[in-house]
Amino acid sequence: MEDVAIIGAGPAGSTLAALLAGRGISVALYDRDAFPRDKLCGEFLSYDALPVLEPLGVVDEIDKAGAPRIERCRVVGSKRTYEFAFPHAARGVSRFYLDDLLHRVAQQRGARAMVNTVNELPEAKVIVGAWGRWGRFDQQLGRKFVRDRSHRNFGFKRHYRRVEDRQSCLSGTGRIACPPPSNVIDLHSFKRGYLGVNAVEGGITNICGLVHASRLAHHKGKWDAFIETIRAEEPRLEELYARHEPAQDGYLSSEPVIFRARSAVEGGVFMIGDASGVIDPLTGNGMAMAIQSALLLAPHIVRLLEQHAGRNEIENEYRRAHRKMFLARIAWSRRVASLLSRPRLLDTALTTTSSPRIGELLLRHTRASRDEIARLADAWF
Ligand SMILES: Cc1cc2nc3c(=O)[nH]c(=O)nc-3n(C[C@H](O)[C@H](O)[C@H](O)COP(=O)(O)OP(=O)(O)OC[C@H]3O[C@@H](n4cnc5c(N)ncnc54)[C@H](O)[C@@H]3O)c2cc1C
Repeated sequence: MEDVAIIGAGPAGSTLAALLAGRGISVALYDRDAFPRDKLCGEFLSYDALPVLEPLGVVDEIDKAGAPRIERCRVVGSKRTYEFAFPHAARGVSRFYLDDLLHRVAQQRGARAMVNTVNELPEAKVIVGAWGRWGRFDQQLGRKFVRDRSHRNFGFKRHYRRVEDRQSCLSGTGRIACPPPSNVIDLHSFKRGYLGVNAVEGGITNICGLVHASRLAHHKGKWDAFIETIRAEEPRLEELYARHEPAQDGYLSSEPVIFRARSAVEGGVFMIGDASGVIDPLTGNGMAMAIQSALLLAPHIVRLLEQHAGRNEIENEYRRAHRKMFLARIAWSRRVASLLSRPRLLDTALTTTSSPRIGELLLRHTRASRDEIARLADAWF
């Protein structure tokens, strides 16, 4: 029997597998998908994830792959714009590349990866749920958020290229140097939803959005028709889409995204990543939280396997540590998202402020400080 079975090999599951296997713990890492695979996501990797990924060699690799550094954020209302700087550079990196890389790193460090849709909880001393925000086990474990019908949102994403790149990268004689990728993430507001726009590796711009289910009633799953509607509503979205052309067939969309509190341990299963709590995507902090929750859980698993304390005690310790690290961030993210999904109200708010302190305040409340995570990572590695 394996020491640890991890169900789900997204950023949370693969990071935990890499951390534990690197310590000589036997780990089985299951995912229903073979890697590489695409995934719905804004693909903005926040700077507070990097101290965990650096010692695993992942940041060097994504930099070599050309992942753009994202240094500023611009909030775009109907008429007004507000811009602020990040204290450290984040990265724009596709999930096709990042998840595959993390999965390979976990295996290089000794985890046993299996392509397998897990239908029954596997046999292992410790079971970890890293299956993302919505999985079959959520129903089986009777988790309350599954019954929530009123807070459902849907995500959509598509990769694009900038029209200006096509025009300027091709001269009469062939290719010439293209303009550098943008180092800004744009957050665009529309009624009951928003879009994030940032560059990823390979000259690609990712446009990814989240919208409340009530706005999709007349579109019957046709994302093109929905995009036409929001382009007509918001002139700045019209400008945005006019500057880009699709680099990918069709849209990737998500299962419902439900923002309700979740427990970090349920039925003896330790949860990490989205399975343990979903932060609003507007923060671009979901992957960072997934990676940080893996780092938070890893020492608890070591203590459990080495029988330093009883199982109940360790479960409660992890619950408390998880709540302390993530609960307030999740609550703040919802408040900010509710403003971003109201373009007129956002404009009013942006009229009254241009201070960079607002940006600092939002960052402080919706993510960890790089130093805090660096300290935790130093203690592990
Ligand atoms: C619209 C939108 C935009 C977002 N934009 C960003 C962003 O820009 N930046 C950011 O940091 N975060 C963003 N997020 C959030 C981010 O995508 C998640 O927080 C992150 O993917 C969570 O990682 P995870 O490892 O917990 O889960 P996931 O990445 O969802 O991985 C779960 C894995 O489990 C596997 N799995 C599930 N069930 C089973 C099973 N039964 N058996 C085997 N395998 C299984 C799946 O195949 C999957 O690979 C966004 C989310 C949405 C909805």
